Amino acid sequence: MYDACAVCEQTFEPEPGFYYGAMYLSFGFAVAIFAVVGLTLNYLAGDPDTWVYVVVIFVLSLLTTPLAFRYSRAMMLYFFGGARYDPKRAARAGH
Ligand SMILES: [Zn+2]
Repeated sequence: MYDACAVCEQTFEPEPGFYYGAMYLSFGFAVAIFAVVGLTLNYLAGDPDTWVYVVVIFVLSLLTTPLAFRYSRAMMLYFFGGARYDPKRAARAGH
């Protein structure tokens, strides 16, 4: 991860240990995946054997780990790091 955005100079690490809180957001994504997969398999797929739940949740968790990692950090920056989208700056940078 870069120290700051090359375009708008937004710092990506406002303080040491800033992203510890992002672990909780990432945990929330994981719980959401567990809940959605669990309910979907239970009600729409006719409640298959337990190993089906385990395999589907394991594979989906692996596939979504990069997304959860990035989005939890972005949400942490937005909610607690003061990062805001600036349309004028984005237009100037050609975003
Ligand atoms: Zn930027």
